[in-house]
Amino acid sequence: MPNNLEKLKYIETKDALDKVSPSFCLAKWLQVTIHLQNGQTHSCHHPPTHKVPLSELKENPAALHNTKEKINQRRAMLRGEKPKPCHYCWDAEKASPDNFSDRVFKSSSSWAMPFLEKTLKDPLSDRITPRYLEVSFGHKCNFKCSYCAPHISSSLFEETKRFGKYPVEDAHDLKWLDKVGLTPIPPEDDNPYVDAFWKWLPEIYQDLRVLRITGGEPLVNPNTFKLLEYMKEHPSDHLDFAMNSNLGLPKSYIQRLKKHLVPLLENKHVKRVNLFTSIDTWGADAEYIRNGLNCEEFEQNLIELFESSPEMRITIMCTFNVLSVPRFHELIEKVLEWKKRFGMIGNDDRLIFDISHLTYPRHQAFTILPASYESRLGELFELMKLHQKKTHLDPEGFTVLEVEKMKRILEIFRDHHQSKDPQQKYWQKQFQLFFTEYDKRKGTSLKQTFPDYSFLGQQSILQDFKNKFKYMR
Ligand code: SF4
Repeated sequence: MPNNLEKLKYIETKDALDKVSPSFCLAKWLQVTIHLQNGQTHSCHHPPTHKVPLSELKENPAALHNTKEKINQRRAMLRGEKPKPCHYCWDAEKASPDNFSDRVFKSSSSWAMPFLEKTLKDPLSDRITPRYLEVSFGHKCNFKCSYCAPHISSSLFEETKRFGKYPVEDAHDLKWLDKVGLTPIPPEDDNPYVDAFWKWLPEIYQDLRVLRITGGEPLVNPNTFKLLEYMKEHPSDHLDFAMNSNLGLPKSYIQRLKKHLVPLLENKHVKRVNLFTSIDTWGADAEYIRNGLNCEEFEQNLIELFESSPEMRITIMCTFNVLSVPRFHELIEKVLEWKKRFGMIGNDDRLIFDISHLTYPRHQAFTILPASYESRLGELFELMKLHQKKTHLDPEGFTVLEVEKMKRILEIFRDHHQSKDPQQKYWQKQFQLFFTEYDKRKGTSLKQTFPDYSFLGQQSILQDFKNKFKYMR
């Protein structure tokens, strides 16, 4: 919940946006995610991606962000119209007109609002410079996570080529990928989108406030290290640099990363470095979900990076899903241990635990669990609350926001079951179909890893959970 000061900031932002038009949003101009492996772009990350036409790119590398399609959406916003792809915000604004949508939250960011005036000088230009750039150089990845897709992981792409699509709704259908222009360009081929990126970067680099590399797995892409070299040669004291990694690679990759990141931090070539990694529960359960993960290796790599510089910050992104539940308390314990060990930089924790919930594919959403699991989720929330910081300067424990995010999980579950989803059984069936095939392809066993999910899930696991739950009184 925003405090009063934050609320005032959002009110002021909304006023400033409304002066331009009631649907104006700076993220459409200043934030971009670009998937160079298939030439897809979107602003912001909520609307679906669309293809950058090669004809536009030939004349203007800034078309990676300023496609004709996006400029048309901007034109609509300036007129006060609501472009359909942004329905995420229009739905939120319609549902509760007094609440703020991401249109306001994002526009109030330090990478957006200070650039309002400049943006409005030539708002329909095809040379708009983003301030928040997220880029994926390729889809090469050594993991095959259960909720990932073939155009994001090369390992999944190869697996799908071999076995075909899954017998469920989210089928990993390569023909469909082709039809909608999502098929990745093979990493070894020439890629005009990557070429255009390197042409465009010098034009925009000094204006960037946030630069984030995503993937695939960035550590297996040579462009990542090319960019880190570029950053060393072009210091920017206002740039927040972020990068994703699954941290599931041998030590040599981590050593190489350290070799680049530590001097960036020590020589202040960027303002801040934040690494983002992902894990959704702990032990064999986590390894089952994120196929390719080894928890021991993950922990060693995490510790090694933390120890490489006192300035290193890491965010653990947890996509809470149906398989997260049985051993989630173990992850909570682990995160507490790491938080305690690595402490804070100024007022900020070096380790942030960011829990979001999986909504897609729906058969892996935690809401497919029976209503009886509410008490379990309640206990997880209680566990985090028990270890909440007493004040925000407390060096140990979870922040208010981290605990709130766990509370949201509980609330979403409760709401879902109160509204009685008529398709509950359907998604449970889809779950079974998907994981039967998953086990065949990967040589894993849902039954052995999650013995109590045969129903999926009976009451016995609740007892087992309580037995293991050493923090509960
Ligand atoms: S209106 Fe909403 S969905 Fe559209 S760009 Fe802005 S924040 Fe994103």
